[in-house]
Amino acid sequence: KYSTASAIEEPVSPPVQVNYTQLLINGQFVKAASEKTFPTLDPRTGDVIAHVAEGDAEDVNRAVASARKAFDEGPWPKMAAYERQRILLRFADLIEKHNDELAALETWDNGKPFEQAAKIEVPMLARLMRYYAGWADKIHGLTVPADGPYHVQTLHEPIGVTGQIIPWNFPLLMYGWKIGPALACGNTIVLKTAEQTPLSALLASNLLHEAGLPPGVLNVISGFGPTAGAALASHMDVDKLAFTGSTSTGKIVLQLAARSNLKPVTLELGGKSPFIICEDADVDKAVELAHFALFFNQGQCCCAGSRTFVHERVYDEFVEKSKARALKRAVGDPFKVGTEQGPQIDTEQFEKILGYIRSGVENGATLEAGGGRLGNKGFYIKPTVFSNVKDDMLIAREEIFGPVQSILKYKDLDDVIHRANSTPYGLAAGVFTQNLDTANTLTRALRAGTVWVNCFDTFDAAIPFGGYKMSGHGREKGIYSLSNYLQVKAVVTPLKNP
Ligand code: ADP
Repeated sequence: KYSTASAIEEPVSPPVQVNYTQLLINGQFVKAASEKTFPTLDPRTGDVIAHVAEGDAEDVNRAVASARKAFDEGPWPKMAAYERQRILLRFADLIEKHNDELAALETWDNGKPFEQAAKIEVPMLARLMRYYAGWADKIHGLTVPADGPYHVQTLHEPIGVTGQIIPWNFPLLMYGWKIGPALACGNTIVLKTAEQTPLSALLASNLLHEAGLPPGVLNVISGFGPTAGAALASHMDVDKLAFTGSTSTGKIVLQLAARSNLKPVTLELGGKSPFIICEDADVDKAVELAHFALFFNQGQCCCAGSRTFVHERVYDEFVEKSKARALKRAVGDPFKVGTEQGPQIDTEQFEKILGYIRSGVENGATLEAGGGRLGNKGFYIKPTVFSNVKDDMLIAREEIFGPVQSILKYKDLDDVIHRANSTPYGLAAGVFTQNLDTANTLTRALRAGTVWVNCFDTFDAAIPFGGYKMSGHGREKGIYSLSNYLQVKAVVTPLKNP
């Protein structure tokens, strides 16, 4: 049973106003140079929420110039590290104070359940800022015992003006993953939000300025990829680029970076993550976790467990129960209490997902649940489960980025290891077993940047995240994220003046 259609047709009025729609350059909200705007839409209805300033190359130039000035003239990179730390801590406090406002804006613009935004994502953003505040005054170099009569030390310096491009699936978390390490290390930033979800980063950035961030340190550009995004990726005065998005766009920005000034690039891209249910699994628990691994955030996770591999001994029971669980999933207005799944982000993703569902049916997978749109307004899709999925089907190979679970049967560990790794992606993997030997074998054999054992989507600020293979370059969060935003300078001095 799904939520009633009327709940979907009559959207709940969002408990928040849109106060910031302009570009944030040099600490000021300003119009785009072209004075153009674009509409950001409510995924529940397709209606316009607000018209937002549309930044393009000229605005990126202005923002980069402001970030360059803030970097070269300070105070940010030269500020005492504990001062930067205090600003990030004050920001975390303000995030908590404005928790529900940030969450409501996120839900309105993105369509994700308000309960999830308010209880998980916004608190995680505050946690991220505290985590990186903790690093700010603990970043330092080494003294190096080199051969010869020299005093050798390394200085860990901020890399400079950083360009950051983020996607729409977790607008505030992606914002936090990007700005946290860059700010802690003393860099300045031009961040481009996704055109589908420009609103929450503007509100959050206003709070960050209220917390004491000097003007020009963080500039936020709303706008489109091929214009604003490409201008940032190819800018000659941007010293580093961090990108999260699709693998195809990742290839474009890497080329733009190489063709311009060879700025180093970190990439967090797509995935087709295996979730492996072993023969010893408690089937009820495995069903629930595999369901979460795929359907969380409307299935719009780069690390979604989108290939559910189930051992043949528990396969039939698993399929039956997964179908029942999907049919029970509460789909409806994301502002309603108890909603587990809201609408997809936009019409493009919606149509793409429906296309994958059709291909699953055409290729002979068994449709167990769902299989189409829900209601007749907005971008809602019924939780969909396919069983009898074969490795070569499109739904088992390509990233669907929607509420479509593909269940595949396997016989033994060697078989599943080989099949799980037979993908150009390597972002994440899940393993469900009580057997320590099995867990050890799988965690070592799977070629993925994260292996979750008996859990999934655990995203603490301290845990590094990133991909093998075509899922990306580099790691975000955790200690590893700092090196993306630092230069190492070796300073060599003779012990005695010659
Ligand atoms: P999706 O298909 O999920 O929207 P994209 O990779 O296209 O993912 O988008 C992720 C981010 O990359 C967004 O902020 C988008 O505007 C930006 N983007 C898209 N195309 C380009 C491009 N050619 N150059 C730079 N950024 C881009």
